[in-house]
Amino acid sequence: MAQLKADVLVIGGGATGTGVAWDAALRGYDVILAERGDLAEGTSGRFHGLLHSGGRYVVKDPVAAEECVVENAALRELIPDCIEDTGGLFVTTPDDDPAYGDSFLEGCRKANLPAEEIDVAEALRREPRLNPGIKRAFTVPDASIDVWKTVSTLSRGAAAHGARILTYHKVIDLHVSGDAVTGARLRDERTGEELDLETGFVLNASGAWAAQICHMAGIEDVGVVPGKGIMIAMNHRLVGTVVNRCTMPADGDILVPIRTVSVIGTTDIRATDPDEIPVTQDEVDQMLDDGERLVPGFREARAMRVWAGVRPLFQDARAGEVKDTRDVSRTHAVVEHKARDGIGGLLTMSGGKLTTYRLMAQDLVDAMCEQLGQDRPSRTRHERPPGDDDGGAGTYTIGSRLRRREKTLLDEQLICECELIGRGKLEEAIRRKGTADLDDIRRHVRLGMGPCQGGFCIYRATGIMHGVERLDGEEAAHALRDFLQERWKGVWPILYGDQLRQARLDDWIFQGLLDVEHLPDGKVPA
Ligand SMILES: Cc1cc2nc3c(=O)[nH]c(=O)nc-3n(C[C@H](O)[C@H](O)[C@H](O)COP(=O)(O)OP(=O)(O)OC[C@H]3O[C@@H](n4cnc5c(N)ncnc54)[C@H](O)[C@@H]3O)c2cc1C
Repeated sequence: MAQLKADVLVIGGGATGTGVAWDAALRGYDVILAERGDLAEGTSGRFHGLLHSGGRYVVKDPVAAEECVVENAALRELIPDCIEDTGGLFVTTPDDDPAYGDSFLEGCRKANLPAEEIDVAEALRREPRLNPGIKRAFTVPDASIDVWKTVSTLSRGAAAHGARILTYHKVIDLHVSGDAVTGARLRDERTGEELDLETGFVLNASGAWAAQICHMAGIEDVGVVPGKGIMIAMNHRLVGTVVNRCTMPADGDILVPIRTVSVIGTTDIRATDPDEIPVTQDEVDQMLDDGERLVPGFREARAMRVWAGVRPLFQDARAGEVKDTRDVSRTHAVVEHKARDGIGGLLTMSGGKLTTYRLMAQDLVDAMCEQLGQDRPSRTRHERPPGDDDGGAGTYTIGSRLRRREKTLLDEQLICECELIGRGKLEEAIRRKGTADLDDIRRHVRLGMGPCQGGFCIYRATGIMHGVERLDGEEAAHALRDFLQERWKGVWPILYGDQLRQARLDDWIFQGLLDVEHLPDGKVPA
């Protein structure tokens, strides 16, 4: 059996686990991350897509709200290409109590969350599909976040600092020696091969599956309460801003625009098994009704896909039975198994939000450093993991991919099929040669020298020459005719068989379609 060794084993490849791997690797630890599936195949890849401003929690869960305020701002600096700055609105629908808006504003003020009440008319101007019956509207810095890009960015960053990211590797057992965890048994889910890992510490970032990992170390009742939620993606952006109902957190009260779609969610029901989270028809109907409350006509849009995720909510089992998972705080907790269960070498992260993954990772690795008696401060608040240019210098916008694509799409456009000359190459040749003569370009890039002898490409090339401002209309017509005349000289003495057919086709194009004889400069090709 293969043997591996590392300072730290991180279990789970969601936002928390990859954040932990990035944090620990930056502090100089030799890290292995084991994920039983692909990165973000758990809850992270099944969430609602919202980078919380904190507004949702300001009244009910102020600590969670404050964490979101701080981390929302931090992530905009650190991983801007993973974030779309959609902005957010909290709106009082006809079914909501307008007085909640006052508590909301007061909560925002206390949490340091920049919120502002705007006229209903202004909210409707910004979001014309919104329910015209809304009574109040507030702006907040909500945003949407692309989780797949986030976990890939974090894991690439960790790998660049030596971390080994083992996807499709399930932790099937923990090795406990005396009163400490000393390693783990992993199984490669694709080959069935098992590996043994010796490690100084295990950081359990397996989210809703945390209790299963703890059982492997003989720890019961770890206090993870799985809260199931469903979401439905609609086939386009019904809104461009995140729209929240301005009320105590409830079901179906947020509509998030993500890339080209919008997602309504969510419910919160206690689940027993994080791998068994079926979606019921009642839940779907409820979500569609809730969408209708925010955007009348919601049901008429195409519901494209429904899915469920399971929140890893933390409430210590010793605190008593959880009846309503909405009452469990959205803050996170590091479970110190040494103090709590007498087992060292193991820490579990529980609770939290995707929005606060960085802080959660920092707290978990801080707790490990403290147990190890090592002073290695976190660097993730200022060090940026490797990103891409999706957003240029800032956050990405809905049009950024299209803009990038269009930039190169034109360059790739094929102008001469015979000689495979693209628009980019042709434009570059026209600029470099600085000529108004298409024959010069022909010699330079072999334009029109293939089997069609310019029949298909030369009128396109003439248009491009006009487009790059070498020629005005009349000069372009003149250049085209000169070129055709020059070609014709070499063609007419051999006009028989297939070449005659090609010449007739060219003639139809130039005389029949373009009527080159009557283009405005009076000269006629021979
Ligand atoms: C319906 C819903 C909507 C949400 N919406 C939002 C939102 O809009 N904004 C927000 O900030 N937060 C939101 N959240 C919360 C957020 O999604 C979670 O807090 C976060 O994704 C948890 O990430 P994680 O890495 O801790 O867990 P996960 O992403 O679940 O990662 C844990 C990983 O551990 C792996 N694993 C399990 N067992 C093993 C094993 N034995 N060996 C190896 N790997 C294992 C799993 O495969 C999984 O990939 C939402 C949650 C839900 C359920």
